[in-house]
Amino acid sequence: MALKVAIVGRPNVGKSTLFNRLVGKKIALVDDQPGVTRDRKEARGRLGDLELDLIDTAGFDDVNDASLEARMRRQTEMAIAEADVSLYVIDARVGVTPIDRVFSKLLRQADKPTILVANKCEGRQGDVGLTEAFSLGFNEPVALSAEHGEGMSDLYQALLEAA
Ligand code: GDP
Ligand code: MG
Repeated sequence: MALKVAIVGRPNVGKSTLFNRLVGKKIALVDDQPGVTRDRKEARGRLGDLELDLIDTAGFDDVNDASLEARMRRQTEMAIAEADVSLYVIDARVGVTPIDRVFSKLLRQADKPTILVANKCEGRQGDVGLTEAFSLGFNEPVALSAEHGEGMSDLYQALLEAA
């Protein structure tokens, strides 16, 4: 049976890039503009011998539009509730932001397995953010570059342990 995996986190951290890499096709739109994935995308993917049912989410920011933020937040909460495990993605180049901490809270409340992923770690530019990520109090963060496909074996190991 496939492992159901929700990819969550604030906009622009690389969730859709990771989703596309695991699915092996460009299904989710990747863009520098935050909030491009308006609605969730689902697809079957794999990592090594692990079959994954992946859910890509839009995330939310402290946007002006409170009703939009509430809708995005619900979407994230629903994906977490449905999934066997969540990949909680942060941007290691930016470091941990206040919005990231809102996601930490959501994931703790859900009381489901969570794998913290520090993305954009290629070329050591994510070193500081990676260190900061420990302070979120989840697993040892998985250092990843979704764009360049680095750290995928560590992600595989983390998924195996969470499954
Ligand atoms: P989402 O909003 O979380 O779904 O983020 P996207 O997947 O749309 O990516 C946002 C931006 O980050 C895009 O410009 C991506 O090309 C870029 N990005 C994604 N993954 C990486 C990565 O591993 N390294 C770097 N440097 N950029 C990345
Ligand atoms: Mg996206």
